[in-house]
Amino acid sequence: MAIERVVDTSIHEDDHEEAIAEISLRPVTFDEYIGQKRLKTNLKLAIEAAKKRGDVMDHVLLYGPPGLGKTTMAGVIAHEMNANFRATSAPSIEKAGDLASILTNLTDGDILFIDEIHRLRRAVEEILYSAMEDYKLDIVIGKGPAARSVKLDLPRFTLIGATTQTGNLAGPLRDRFGHQYRLEYYANADIQKIIERSAKILETTIDADAAKLLAERSRLTPRIANRLLKRVRDYADVNGDGKITVDVAKRALEMLEIDELGLDPADRNMLTLMIEKYGDKPVGLNTIAALTGDEPTTIENYYEPFLMQLGMIQRTPKGRIVTDIAREHLGL
Ligand code: ADP
Repeated sequence: MAIERVVDTSIHEDDHEEAIAEISLRPVTFDEYIGQKRLKTNLKLAIEAAKKRGDVMDHVLLYGPPGLGKTTMAGVIAHEMNANFRATSAPSIEKAGDLASILTNLTDGDILFIDEIHRLRRAVEEILYSAMEDYKLDIVIGKGPAARSVKLDLPRFTLIGATTQTGNLAGPLRDRFGHQYRLEYYANADIQKIIERSAKILETTIDADAAKLLAERSRLTPRIANRLLKRVRDYADVNGDGKITVDVAKRALEMLEIDELGLDPADRNMLTLMIEKYGDKPVGLNTIAALTGDEPTTIENYYEPFLMQLGMIQRTPKGRIVTDIAREHLGL
């Protein structure tokens, strides 16, 4: 079984406290949303234009690795548009009827957020096409020769889709998003600001150089930054007076076995196994998954993006190759 990780980018859903903290730490306005300057500039313009026209915004597709702030940005857009925010995720929409009922329950101007939109089933996706294009719901009533198709008017809404894998999005769906933005990894300085903001909300004192140190270990990802902050705060509460100094942060990171680049034992284990078993030959995704005991999608979504960003792993048509940068880092 895979190891429970501090630095993975998924929400630990069984961790009730974490789920609540995610909500309380989530920025609500553009001003609170740190970094992603290009994205913010473009969206602000689109929102202002839509407001001026008194119309809804065109549909928005946000893509990029998990934990970078796609869901958060969708909420910010809704807030800035003064719109209702309805959130759902593709795996929870099982049948075309489920989506039809979500759509018919919308009101004018609503923002509908669909997470992991690349995982929509085909039949569900097809309903979305005419809904996105001309706010019509095309449904078939009845079966066999008696079946007939009806078109219902839908309220004007904005769909915001989020995905970690644009490559897996069907062309016709992707083309229906007027705005498509990639979320970038954050600069360390921005992650530091996020940590300092979160510490304030959590009423925890953190020294600037301790926040800088945590930022450097956060894999350029806000979700990990917030999680590290909470783990280090726990450590400071138990082993000191609750204040996070550089010294406390260093000791906590050592205990969590997170190294200077933000890699944890699971990353190091995966890279080491790949090197030991396959050297510099390409390794297929399923093979890597079998080596570590994780699901292939976990490797693809949660390990790989950051390791690729660091240049430690390269993707080739034949599989993944570990680079010398990784060997050097691991001292192999
Ligand atoms: P995604 O949907 O891309 O997986 P989320 O929007 O859920 O990521 O973001 C994860 C957490 O990181 C959020 O709870 C939020 O507190 C924090 N976060 C994300 N982006 C920012 C940001 N730009 N500024 C401050 N905090 C952020």
